[in-house]
Amino acid sequence: MQRIAVFPGSFDPITKGHESVIKRAIPLFDTIIIAIGENSEKKEYFPLEKRLKWIKKTFEKYPAVKVMPYNGLTVDFCKQVNATYILRGLRTSADFEFERSIGQMNKNIHPDIETVFLLTAPEYTHLNSSIVREIHKHGGNVEQFVPDSVDLK
Ligand code: ADP
Repeated sequence: MQRIAVFPGSFDPITKGHESVIKRAIPLFDTIIIAIGENSEKKEYFPLEKRLKWIKKTFEKYPAVKVMPYNGLTVDFCKQVNATYILRGLRTSADFEFERSIGQMNKNIHPDIETVFLLTAPEYTHLNSSIVREIHKHGGNVEQFVPDSVDLK
């Protein structure tokens, strides 16, 4: 059976932290689908087309990594694409508490889907998309925080 994982998030924008977790997970799965959630409660900063394009470019040399947008529940999307794993990164204990409740709830809804966590590389623990957006909004240089293929100008 193919080991297909979904890595869900907003990726608004993708950061070096995301890139690091995904690259470290490549040996664990046959396919990783980076799933850009179109969340009704979160207002997008960068348009979906740009977020898709940046992710495609970042992983163009990695055929096992794909990117797709999705709506609705992550577990339902997993079913649609035959994924049996959800991949998440853990930065802090706050992430852990948040992830624990979502992970346990997801397990309740679809017991055959496992959530797999990778600890963030220490150099990226402080990094998150909302800080990158804030710096970008105020005209700061965010190049060092995003993968080389992301052109935010
Ligand atoms: P969300 O919309 O759920 O906040 P994000 O797009 O911020 O999602 O992140 C998606 C996933 O990437 C989450 O599992 C998150 O923990 C992980 N992640 C976010 N930032 C980093 C980082 N700096 N290092 C490693 N993983 C990260």
